[in-house]
Amino acid sequence: MNDTIINENITVILKRIENTCIKVNRNPNDVKLLLATKTVSAENIITAIKLGQKLIGENKVQEIKEKFEMLQPFEHKKHFIGHLQTNKIKDILKYNVTCIQSVDRYDLAQKLNERLLFENKNIEIFIQVNTSNETSKFGVEPEKTIDLIKQISNLKAIKIKGLMTIGLFSAEDYKVRSCFKLLKEIQQEVINRNIPNVEMKELSMGMSGDLEIAIEQGATIVRVGTAIFAQRIYTDSYYWNEKLEIR
Ligand SMILES: *Cc1c(COP(=O)(O)O)cnc(C)c1O
Repeated sequence: MNDTIINENITVILKRIENTCIKVNRNPNDVKLLLATKTVSAENIITAIKLGQKLIGENKVQEIKEKFEMLQPFEHKKHFIGHLQTNKIKDILKYNVTCIQSVDRYDLAQKLNERLLFENKNIEIFIQVNTSNETSKFGVEPEKTIDLIKQISNLKAIKIKGLMTIGLFSAEDYKVRSCFKLLKEIQQEVINRNIPNVEMKELSMGMSGDLEIAIEQGATIVRVGTAIFAQRIYTDSYYWNEKLEIR
């Protein structure tokens, strides 16, 4: 992909973010753009970093590993946004991932915490909530989110910073909106409970096709891939289906 196209695509996305913020009376500085860089080459990611984009998100530990050396000289922050298997915990901690957005179960958090304590490190996480009720997607059930957060809040090496969700894929805006609205409601409920060691500032929601609706509902991070780096060769289910592993 050439640099000009990436530049143009980023400009369009930033404009979409800005326009939506203006429309719903929010400060555009309160919405961060995260580049969803699965399958994107290190070269193209570096182009985006040089254009001022400092936040990237990867779905596979293997891909983080493959791009790590090349990206290392360029200042950026890396989040993990894919499904994390417990047997990859040791691996993921090698590559300066600052936040795991996809924690959705206690045993994962607990094993992560154990390893972090062993390595004398700590990490930020978001809790991924399944707001669309689709069985194919990961995330804790909405009704179980508070309990999970309470449990995880006791783990010393982990700091909960917010929530993440993937909205329903639907052409009907109201259905997509209800997912994001639900995440916002859960956020408020968590804030009301005042749970020690839990911060709830971040709401990671909205992608290429639905970022406007997410920002309208309070997103602080939107995760954009396709609209910047063009179509991927794999379908999204490839990344969200535990049974499939790409090499
Ligand atoms: C791929 C991906 C995105 C970005 O989706 P696009 O539609 O390409 O913008 C966002 N979040 C997650 C978890 C993803 O896997």
